[in-house]
Amino acid sequence: MGPRGGTDFESGRTRSADWRRRQLDGLLDLLANEEQAIQAALEADLGKSAFEAWLTDVGPCVAEVRHAKDHLEQWMKPRSVSSPLVVQPARSAVQPEPLATVLIIAPWNYPLQLVVNPLAGVLAAGNTAVVKPSELAPATSAVLAEMLPRYVDGVHVVEGAVPETTELLALPFDHILFTGSTEVGRIVMRAAADNFVPVTLELGGKSPVVVDETVDLPTAARRIMWGMLLNAGQTCIAPDYCLVDRLVVDRFVAELAEAVTAFHGADPRQSGDLARIVNGRHHSRLTGLLEDHGGTVAVGGQADADDRHLAPTVVVDPNPESPLMQEEIFGPIRPVVPVDGVHDAIDFIRSRPKPLALYVFTDERAVADRVLAATSSGSACINHVLLQVAVPDLPFGGVGPAGMGRYHGQAGFDAMSNLRSVVRKPLRPDLDL
Ligand code: NAD
Repeated sequence: MGPRGGTDFESGRTRSADWRRRQLDGLLDLLANEEQAIQAALEADLGKSAFEAWLTDVGPCVAEVRHAKDHLEQWMKPRSVSSPLVVQPARSAVQPEPLATVLIIAPWNYPLQLVVNPLAGVLAAGNTAVVKPSELAPATSAVLAEMLPRYVDGVHVVEGAVPETTELLALPFDHILFTGSTEVGRIVMRAAADNFVPVTLELGGKSPVVVDETVDLPTAARRIMWGMLLNAGQTCIAPDYCLVDRLVVDRFVAELAEAVTAFHGADPRQSGDLARIVNGRHHSRLTGLLEDHGGTVAVGGQADADDRHLAPTVVVDPNPESPLMQEEIFGPIRPVVPVDGVHDAIDFIRSRPKPLALYVFTDERAVADRVLAATSSGSACINHVLLQVAVPDLPFGGVGPAGMGRYHGQAGFDAMSNLRSVVRKPLRPDLDL
């Protein structure tokens, strides 16, 4: 049996709008009926509170699946284009058709969302799927393995780690949507090349925040700290480090400290709302980043390996060559790098690989425009963080080492479809070309 799992796709039944709608309804039913089991799994894997589980996993899935369902018929329609004189009389259109079977490989940090959101596009486009959840979020992986086949037709879940994923990567799928690290993305792309399998790679990296001297600092600090502490900073598009105008660094750092207290009290460890670090290995990786950075720990720094807790931490003026400033942090630590104005911040960003996301906090539109014009990133948000991911009509993805391809909304439907170009001509008149 090939990756198509027998006759699911080849029977042709996945092509109808009705089948697709039923699968999207199945996903919505799963999210509604099994919410408690999902929340318990997210709590076990990542210490997420019920509210955070809804805000960052279940809620975005419901929004994405509903959006796909609401637009399904429109996305499926042939998209007419004009036909030049040389082919007339004729009608030309782009006609989306399913690819067949898509492999979805997911990471652990949003272990539900990063399976269900790709699935919305895959199923809306009339494909079947093989899903490989992350072994580092085992409770969520088990819930998906048990529930998905009960609610959705044509989805097969393979649980496992590197050996299982390696076996899957050897199969001739019709597309692979991989979310994870840049290093593993390279392995996926190499394996896919053997079978000419197209890939969507949703990878990571260091996403900078530029803070200029005109901005309202308490608002900027609160928004940045909110984005930094969501899922304890284990978010691909989390603001990774802040490039702050030297004139306002001290005040900005004081406001970051205020924001931590406002969100999680004087002792964040006692807060029921701060997620934990996924495992001991990542906890020691993060405490390792807090050594030899050459900067000053201005906020936090406390760690408890037994509880997988790491206090929200701000490091001022670290060495740009230190691991803290070279590796994706993926935890609740934020370096603050003083810069001499916006041009300095732009030079810093341009000297590094193109980031997945970019954030600018400024009261002046011209400053935001200048940063956007002089840099590149997969997505950007001005005067807030993370919100670009919540707009279903904005294609989501990276550029350069942060990834390739886009999904979410129609971009997901299109990425999972073959956009077939079709010209239809009448037999008469039979003009001599
Ligand atoms: P990871 O790359 O270690 O693992 C992702 C998946 O690949 C898992 O399912 C894992 O089982 C599999 N895998 C791991 N090593 C493999 C190997 N050698 N061969 C084959 N398969 C392998 O990533 P992670 O630690 O789960 O997630 C964190 C990373 O993901 C961060 O870099 C983060 O920025 C990125 N991320 C990106 C997005 C995005 O949308 N761009 C979203 C979430 C996370």
